[in-house]
Amino acid sequence: MSKQTINWHERAAALTIDGRPVIAGRRVEGLSGEQFDCISPINGKSLGQVSRCQAADVDAAVASARAAFDDGRWARRPPAARKRVLLKFADLIMAAKEELALLETLDMGKPIQYSLAVDVPAAARCIAWYAEAVDKIYDEIAPTGPNALALIQREPMGVIGAIVPWNYPLIMSAWKLGPALAAGNSVVLKPSEKSPLTALRLAELALQAGLPEGVFNVVPGFGHEAGEALALHMDVDAIGFTGSIRVGRKMLEYAGRSNLKRVYNELGGKSAFLVFPDFDDLKRCAQTVAGSMFFNQGESCNAPSRVLVQQDIADEFIALVAAEAPNYRPADPLEPGTVMGALVDEGQLRTVMGYIESGVAEGARVVAGAKQSRTDSGGFFVEPTVFEAQPQMKIAREEIFGPVMSVIRFKDEAEAVALANDSPYGLQASVWSSHIDRAHRVAKALRAGTVHVNQYDEDDMTVPFGGYKQSGNGRDKSLHAFDKYTELKTTWLRIN
Ligand code: NAD
Repeated sequence: MSKQTINWHERAAALTIDGRPVIAGRRVEGLSGEQFDCISPINGKSLGQVSRCQAADVDAAVASARAAFDDGRWARRPPAARKRVLLKFADLIMAAKEELALLETLDMGKPIQYSLAVDVPAAARCIAWYAEAVDKIYDEIAPTGPNALALIQREPMGVIGAIVPWNYPLIMSAWKLGPALAAGNSVVLKPSEKSPLTALRLAELALQAGLPEGVFNVVPGFGHEAGEALALHMDVDAIGFTGSIRVGRKMLEYAGRSNLKRVYNELGGKSAFLVFPDFDDLKRCAQTVAGSMFFNQGESCNAPSRVLVQQDIADEFIALVAAEAPNYRPADPLEPGTVMGALVDEGQLRTVMGYIESGVAEGARVVAGAKQSRTDSGGFFVEPTVFEAQPQMKIAREEIFGPVMSVIRFKDEAEAVALANDSPYGLQASVWSSHIDRAHRVAKALRAGTVHVNQYDEDDMTVPFGGYKQSGNGRDKSLHAFDKYTELKTTWLRIN
């Protein structure tokens, strides 16, 4: 059936939700028997019950992952054999794309057209990319003297705990699973309690593809329960975490209090977007910043939420951005043409509206939006919002994680760079200038893991993703992600 003819409301009504964990190769009952309601942000209604996993469930999942790792049922298979299974896994994700897209949209509120065209294919591509890579990476021989041979090899690390957020549940899971599984590790995945459904289906699809039992387990539940138990576990070798700075800090504490497991944090952002007067197409620039800011309801770690504009062009630029905002008005996420959906839950709605109120209270000028929307639906929708702000205001400094952009005027290049770098975050940044020296100069001066020049949309599995400063450590995507999930072993041999 083609996408145009699908009635997503009918499909949603026919869904049955299985919220039980996947441990040791099958769906099992949560050991405590406790459950929680999985609420859809589209209408505030329950989609079904999900197991509220506790430390005992995490123990069982880690034990199964450890047993699988230790007997080598996956770790010691030749890379080409792991590749075959993971390519099949990627194919099965694509074969289930309508079901996965529907679950993603119902669970976290993003428009169905994007779940279908972005999230599901990106997750499949990520798994396939690491599968394809793993039998093409060679290890090293050190340039030692003639009587010795030093082999430097990557080995899988063991049991990886993956703890992921709700904004791109499938993609964030895939960014951990792809490199960790391809390298031969076992994984215990703890999805966000706000969006657990697609992770559970992923585990079933992986089993169907031939991934051996115990290699990939999923424990749904709350952060302070299942998440904490996983991060404190003495038999987990590394944590791949994506989420907030607040919880990233805890990950480091948990490692310190337990077995010093490696911690890789992919955290938040307040990405700066610098617009210089020598850029010759302000309209495209305004369209890009609006598109990137309001995509995924503004719930993107790399959303360009701090827009710095040179004062001579600021009025014109702000008018252009204001004209874009109405194109992103929230609508029913299950309708195929919708471009902005619902915020993930009522708590996030309150947080975002709280920031909007603080912006108004601190004297920021509302240029667009600033209101809740579609309240009759019972769901959690906010209009795309643009403020003209001052750099010290809360809305201009803190990550809001909603559709709220702050535009700030600057005088000259030195001030723009200083403002951009005056942030605890350093995930991404963007510089807009038609002057090649300025573009390079500013790109070099910006303290961010990724700098875009005259665009913001380019993205690919081939490039690393991660931040400077408190935006995290280590990198997802690209071959660099293997660094997180492998140990380097040196073996010295004497040659007589
Ligand atoms: P969060 O930190 O609240 O939660 C993330 C995950 O951690 C969830 O699974 C949650 O259950 C778990 N968790 C919460 N408390 C825990 C605890 N005490 N112990 C163990 N686990 C715990 O973040 P969120 O609200 O789900 O996601 C939004 C954040 O994620 C934003 O800051 C965003 O910028 C960031 N993010 C970063 C990237 C990146 O690649 N840098 C990508 C996406 C999202």
